[in-house]
Amino acid sequence: MEFKIGVIAGDGIGPEIVAEARKVLDRVGSVYGHTFHYEEILMGGCSIDATGVPLTEEAIAAAKASDAVLMGSIGGNTATSPWYQLPPDRRPEAGLLRLRKELNLFANLRPAYLYDELRAACPLRDEIIGDGFDMMIMRELTGGLYFGERRTEAVDGVMTATDTLTYSENEIRRIAKRGFDIARKRRKKVTSVDKANVLDSSRLWRKIVEEVAADYPDVAYEHMLVDNCAMQLVKDPKQFDVILTENMFGDILSDEASMVTGSIGMLSSASLNDTKFGLYEPSGGSAPDIAGKGIANPIATILSAAMLLRYSFDLDAEADAVEAAVKQVLKDGCRTIDIMPQEGSAGQPVTQVGTAQMGDLICSHIGA
Ligand code: NAD
Repeated sequence: MEFKIGVIAGDGIGPEIVAEARKVLDRVGSVYGHTFHYEEILMGGCSIDATGVPLTEEAIAAAKASDAVLMGSIGGNTATSPWYQLPPDRRPEAGLLRLRKELNLFANLRPAYLYDELRAACPLRDEIIGDGFDMMIMRELTGGLYFGERRTEAVDGVMTATDTLTYSENEIRRIAKRGFDIARKRRKKVTSVDKANVLDSSRLWRKIVEEVAADYPDVAYEHMLVDNCAMQLVKDPKQFDVILTENMFGDILSDEASMVTGSIGMLSSASLNDTKFGLYEPSGGSAPDIAGKGIANPIATILSAAMLLRYSFDLDAEADAVEAAVKQVLKDGCRTIDIMPQEGSAGQPVTQVGTAQMGDLICSHIGA
């Protein structure tokens, strides 16, 4: 099959980690008989340098014309980079916010998976980790508190700030459907997280999720209050498969869930709309402190490419092969600097490798 992938390499370590993900996609293409055509798209600081703005109309059109977009990361050192002297709507991050809006990317997916080999990086006790955990946080990305009306004003002489949290049943239904669809590709369980004991928006959320659940009799589901979910994530993370939740709760819970897996360099993510299209990127930023040194961990970007294969192209076997290759390389004891064990810690002997070598090693296990 043939696919067109928009590639936003971006800034900092972005070009280094995206190069490795492309290497892996090309390896998948040659083993499984697919052709991936890449279209390079400028966004972020590199776009400001080249065009004066973080995202041009041409870049938006190129992204829309792609079957999916693979992204590295954008932005620079916020304290020293001249990009951050610009007004907020001209800074690198403004490009990403605009692109998400233009592409209507309302569903954000962040897996939290604990690799057995990286157990030492997990801050939870061994008996809690057990056989490990593997969950997916599905967060609504374009509605709720972050997009509601807001104002700060003097009320009877007292400064008062107001934010509003609004969800329509349509917004809830489309993300819920996505959540149940994703659960069908996994262990078939959805935990819908809300604050229905207090918030009207949560009560509507719960009602619509129940309606959607009726169309997925093969998927088990439950409701959980957000405060309980925050506790359960560190008490018993194994119980979760897909966590489905609104924007602000998802923002907080996805960071909590990713923390319990260890390194930021391992965390992939996807943002989807109501077609097969998606934007796939590592959860970390552009890491200006290590850019250009050839030491960044490319695994999060490679796993994002695996998500792209699975969710935009329905190439599940190919995605499985990439994920298995990552596991094998970790099993073989190969580590980038960010996932090296602490000096003096027990465990198997490991070897430190650079960004490109990690990409090569992962490729060598695909179709081997
Ligand atoms: P960061 O994620 O870039 O870095 C935090 C720490 O994690 C650094 O020490 C970095 O070296 C390390 N790290 C991150 N990714 C790594 C990898 N793949 N391998 C090894 N180590 C890695 O966060 P920050 O320093 O707060 O932000 C830097 C820039 O990135 C800022 O301009 C910020 O706005 C931007 N940012 C962009 C995105 C995005 O593109 N979606 C997301 C977050 C931050």
